[in-house]
Amino acid sequence: MKNTESGNFVRALETGDRELLRRVPRADVHNHAGLGGDFNTWVAQEGLDIKDNSHHFPDFTDFQKFVDKIYSYPNENPTSKQNRERILSLYRATYDLAVSDGVTLIEPGIDALILDFFDGSVEDMIAELTLLDSEYKGRLEIRPDVGMIRVFPMDEIERTIYPCIESGYFAALDVFADERHGPPEEFRQIYRDAKKAGMKLKAHAGELLDADFVRRSVEVLELDEVQHGIAAAKSPEVMRFLADNGIRLNICPSSNIQLCQVESFKTHPIRILMDNGVKVTVNTDDAIIFGQKSSDEFFNLFETGLYTAVELDMVRLNGFKD
Ligand SMILES: [Zn+2]
Repeated sequence: MKNTESGNFVRALETGDRELLRRVPRADVHNHAGLGGDFNTWVAQEGLDIKDNSHHFPDFTDFQKFVDKIYSYPNENPTSKQNRERILSLYRATYDLAVSDGVTLIEPGIDALILDFFDGSVEDMIAELTLLDSEYKGRLEIRPDVGMIRVFPMDEIERTIYPCIESGYFAALDVFADERHGPPEEFRQIYRDAKKAGMKLKAHAGELLDADFVRRSVEVLELDEVQHGIAAAKSPEVMRFLADNGIRLNICPSSNIQLCQVESFKTHPIRILMDNGVKVTVNTDDAIIFGQKSSDEFFNLFETGLYTAVELDMVRLNGFKD
């Protein structure tokens, strides 16, 4: 079975057969459930007035402003119920896009703050999320991450993250947003508690900051995996550290390019990381903004001529090993 999948994957890339590639199982282990889906469908559905979808964000704050536009609500003061339905509809769009692209395993990032859309009831939240997951049974394995926005006040984070950790619903913990704020030391205790609860530990690091920040995040938070981590490619020592400790980087090439951290697919450091024995996966991050599906990301890399189809198949298979 595995050999057939790999054979089809290699053939699909080498012959440019996108339809065949979509039939080969893939994992998307770095994406944000509230920012998946198709941009045009969402804008039309919500009646949003967003004309500029330039896919180019020279400054991280430009990106954050764009995210705010996607989330902007047509009503002045939405009720929890309206917010709840809207966020679940975004999650559904993320899962639908994954299924349509042939992704079979997804680790969607769910922001702990959605608890407020359920008026603080973790039971209601889990019931709704579980019901949504059940719609995809047999088509898409959903292993949710619970995420913290690192720029938020710690008391707000603790108020929502602990009920989520204790719920047992989430498979992994993550922290995201502008990594120039919210140092890993501030999150150490939460990560320890999540580890005790048996969760996998991930964190965004090395998207904007340097290789030393990647290593520091891994050491302070005892991470199993790093979301992005591309800055590690600038340091042979940090790459050796990641390789020796089997720390996987869950990379999103289009996101890195559109956020102007990397110039092009040709110059993306994923090549350097692979050459230095670092385990990597390829993922979508925020498909609603970056406009690229999992299958597109693999084609984009293959078309640089810098990767063999067999190498990219190893990257594909990494997504299923944790
Ligand atoms: Zn991300």
